[in-house]
Amino acid sequence: MDWKKLADALIPDEDLQPLEYYETLYAPRNLPKGAEVTRLAPSPTGFMHLGNLYVALANERLAHCSGGVLYLRIEDTDSKRKVEGAVDVILSSLRYFGIAFDEGAEIGGDYGPYYQQQRAKIYRAYAKDLIARGRAYACFCTEEELSAVREKQTENKLLPGYYGEFAKCRNLSEEEIYANLAAGKPYVIRFRSEGDVNKKSVFHDEIKGDITVTENNQDVVILKSDGIPTYHFAHAVDDHLMRTTIVIRGEEWLASLPIHIELFGALGFRLPRYGHNCSIQKIDGEDGGRRKLSKRKDPEASLVFYREEGYHPLAVKTYLMTLLNSNFEEWRLKFPAKPLEEFKFSIGKMGKSGALFDLDKLQDISKEILSSLSAEEMFDFLSAWADEYGSAEEKEYFSDREYLLRVLTLCMGVGAKKRRKDFVTAKQALRTISYFFRAPETPAFRADGETVKAVLEKFMDSYDPADDNAAWFDKMKKTADALGFASDMKAYKSAPENYRGNVSDVAEIVRVAMTGHANTPDLCTIMQILGEEECRRRAAAAAQNL
Ligand code: GLU
Repeated sequence: MDWKKLADALIPDEDLQPLEYYETLYAPRNLPKGAEVTRLAPSPTGFMHLGNLYVALANERLAHCSGGVLYLRIEDTDSKRKVEGAVDVILSSLRYFGIAFDEGAEIGGDYGPYYQQQRAKIYRAYAKDLIARGRAYACFCTEEELSAVREKQTENKLLPGYYGEFAKCRNLSEEEIYANLAAGKPYVIRFRSEGDVNKKSVFHDEIKGDITVTENNQDVVILKSDGIPTYHFAHAVDDHLMRTTIVIRGEEWLASLPIHIELFGALGFRLPRYGHNCSIQKIDGEDGGRRKLSKRKDPEASLVFYREEGYHPLAVKTYLMTLLNSNFEEWRLKFPAKPLEEFKFSIGKMGKSGALFDLDKLQDISKEILSSLSAEEMFDFLSAWADEYGSAEEKEYFSDREYLLRVLTLCMGVGAKKRRKDFVTAKQALRTISYFFRAPETPAFRADGETVKAVLEKFMDSYDPADDNAAWFDKMKKTADALGFASDMKAYKSAPENYRGNVSDVAEIVRVAMTGHANTPDLCTIMQILGEEECRRRAAAAAQNL
């Protein structure tokens, strides 16, 4: 068989470069020893899974802890799965979570183009070379023929796929091939495997450890009938030419690893290292069983969820780090103020089996992260969230910067002995502080109406916004004394039956009238922020609407 002639017939493109051209153009990177070149290679499906960020973070840490490079490649070869605006979803999610790429889609770089659609000629050049060397061939099988083969294999309990005796087009004669071409039959290009499924070897996976791999014997499709490469082929060509040193990808690709090992070999490429990452799981059902975090069932599987809820990106990243490396938490406890970047990330410490997602833990971390911000940083974070997701009313909160900063300073306990940890997300924080902007609609008091009225009237009679905390509390005590509540807690505790309650019950009434909540930061300061007029209005309204 004249393979070269066949290669010209199957891939007649006249504008392909010789392979040396690509090998020189995308020369090995000039990086220090040990520097890792990692990549993120999402398909633009319009959906970004939490797992995408998980892998992104691992890749980012590996590259940047080693003085290497992280790049972004958009795997857009599957036109059926393509969704309008999907690339923007990828880019904006990664930007929001602060994954810093050194090169790739949108920013460019020396190893581009970074959109696979734009690399069609490169794949065709390498496919043509495989054909010319007898390592790839045209397959004219129709869908019907392929499913008939599959059926036969299932019936006989044989390994499914296109291989050995089932690889009908593998041994077509020259005449048959040219006759098919002359008849205009559509064809795909398949790899000609030389593997033997009876041969097994040990492969070191950077995450899973040593695993046994069976040789590939499948003649997988490398170019589809439209000339576009499959994942397998594009992966080999791109990760070689972009000089990736380590491929971290979902464990769903583990089953294809033998194909990739053989493909890299046939192409004469050095195999990168691989780490197959476990999926993120959650506990589901009463039996405590685990299952994969599902795009369909779990809103928290989507990165959009965290943005809509207003989780701080650092909280999500910090939480994912606890899932990624088992020793991260210990490090963080030791150095709570250090940036994540200083943690020595190690791929060997990534979980071998599913990481368990725990929303409560994310919320605890979120509280901590938010409580470590300055009031100004919190202002900016909330404002950015409200711009995108807030209601018209919430957007208004930001019109008086000074006022909101006073609110945040109080609610976060900035300057106090201990920071408050009331805020979990931007959405929840804005709801929590809404009483600074709007009187509570129907404050719910524990006390009866008459008591509420008496307390509000009495206290507001004496209220003076110029009072400091001590003077303010004295007046609260006087109100208590006047209405039969104990102002002295000791006295109350020794004979509670002598009182209608104590000073904290009195303060609660004022608090609920002002804020609608029984628990808030310091009420005296809240009243100062609200202003005298507004406080009197709220007290009067509460007394009236009982
Ligand atoms: N485009 C593939 C995916 O989204 C990438 C797998 C890989 O990282 O190689 O699953």
